[in-house]
Parts: sequence; structure tokens; C-alpha cells
Amino acid sequence: MKNKKGLIAIIIILIISCSIINSSHKEKQFNNYMSQVDKLISEKKYDEAKKQLDSAKNIKDNDEVKEKQKIIKFNQDQFKIYTEGLDLIKKEDFDSALKKLSEIDEKAEDIKENADEKIVICKQKLIPIKINEAKKFLDSKEFDKAYSKINEAVSIDDKNKQVLDFKNSINTKKTAYEEEQKQIAIAKKEEEDRIKKEKAREDEIAKQEQVKEEQETQQVLSNNISDETHVYWTPKGKSYHSSPGCPTLSRSKTIYEGSIQESGKFDPCDRCM
Ligand SMILES: [Zn+2]
Repeated sequence: MKNKKGLIAIIIILIISCSIINSSHKEKQFNNYMSQVDKLISEKKYDEAKKQLDSAKNIKDNDEVKEKQKIIKFNQDQFKIYTEGLDLIKKEDFDSALKKLSEIDEKAEDIKENADEKIVICKQKLIPIKINEAKKFLDSKEFDKAYSKINEAVSIDDKNKQVLDFKNSINTKKTAYEEEQKQIAIAKKEEEDRIKKEKAREDEIAKQEQVKEEQETQQVLSNNISDETHVYWTPKGKSYHSSPGCPTLSRSKTIYEGSIQESGKFDPCDRCM
């Protein structure tokens, strides 16, 4: 009886110590997995970290495991943004890269640090590009577009002396250009007024000449109409003359005289009529 009890006690002790050994072994294994997980996260090997965490979870599914799952997911997402940013830098799309890298959360610690270094590079690349684009617009007098470009540069780095100097030079050139345009407009207006006056004067002269011409025509007609007008002509000449002394008749031997009708000519002499 006494022996039996002793045996049971020994068996119980054995079972307890086995279970203690076993549980301490499992605890050790769990901790081992968890430290592997941390190491893999820091190495950004997230898929491997997940596998190690699954192994740990099989031993113990506690809050620590759940927290680690969240940390892996968070870091994996942040790292994805970071690699997308790097791809954009490779494609020299620094604008988009800058935007992408700025999305990274400060809690992502070393990823955030790396991203910040890349952001500095993006800014260094972008500033001269923006200034250059602004310069092209400035050269073609597209001031609004030039401002918008240089303001993009200001938003990247509002203390950059080169950027601020360039913005000032846009201001100066715009003012000068506007003044120049004003002067051109004034000169144009003056020229238009001058042309208008000139035209009016020419019109007036033309009108006067027309009146004079009409009067002369009237005179000639009235001269022509009168059959009584006494004129002179030669047999072969085509015109009639008002006087036998007309220079065009100086070499003519035969000079007739009478009315226009009698002369049978229709053309009054250009010299004497
Ligand atoms: Zn004549």
C-alpha cells in the first residue's frame, strides 16, 4: 500500500517535471521565432518574417503575435511605397517620386529615414528642372506659366536663393514687358491717328480735285456745246483751236476758221482750249 502511493507520487512528479521541461522548451522556441521575426522585419524580408511568425503562432497565439502581424503589414506597406518611389526616381519622374516618398509614415522609422534621403535627391534634381521650365516660359513671355513653374520650385524649397532670385527676375521682366507694351500701344494709337488725319486730308484734296475736274469738264462741255464758238483748224489736224496763234499751229500753212460744227473736229486742243 505504501509502495503503491510512493509510485503514484513518483509518476505524478515525473509527469509534472516533463510538462515543465516541455513548456519551457516551447517558450524558448517561441522566443526564438519572435526574435527571428524582428530580425527579418529589420532586413525587410517580410514574407519570411510572416512564416516565422506563423510558427510562433502555432506555439502560442497571443497579443504579442497579433501585434507583430500588424507591424509586419505596416512595414510591408510602407516599404512598397518606398520601392515605388525608387522606381519613379529611376524613370526620372522626380515630381511623382517626391509625392510618393512623402506619403511614407514617420512611424516607419528606417524606411522613413531612407525616403527622406531620396526626397533630398529629388528636390536637388527638381529645382533646376523647374527653373529651366520657368525660363522657357519667361523667354516666350508666358508670365503666368512661368510663375506657376517657379512657384512649384518654391513649394519644393522656399529658401532656395536661386529660386527666389529667379522669381524676382520674372517680376522685373513682367513689369518691363508691360511698360513696353503700353508704350507700343500708345505709339500705335498715335500712328493710327496720324494715318487717319492723313487720309482725311487726302480725301479732302481728292474731293476738291474732283470738284475742280467736274467744273472743268462742265466748262469744256459748255465750250463744246456752243456751236457759235469761233475756232481754228487745219485740214489734217485732229483738233480745233481757240486761236490761230496756238503753238501747235505754228507750222501749218493752211488754217481754216469757223464754228466747231463747221470744223468737223471733235477734239479741243490740249494747249489752247
Ligand atoms: Zn491749239
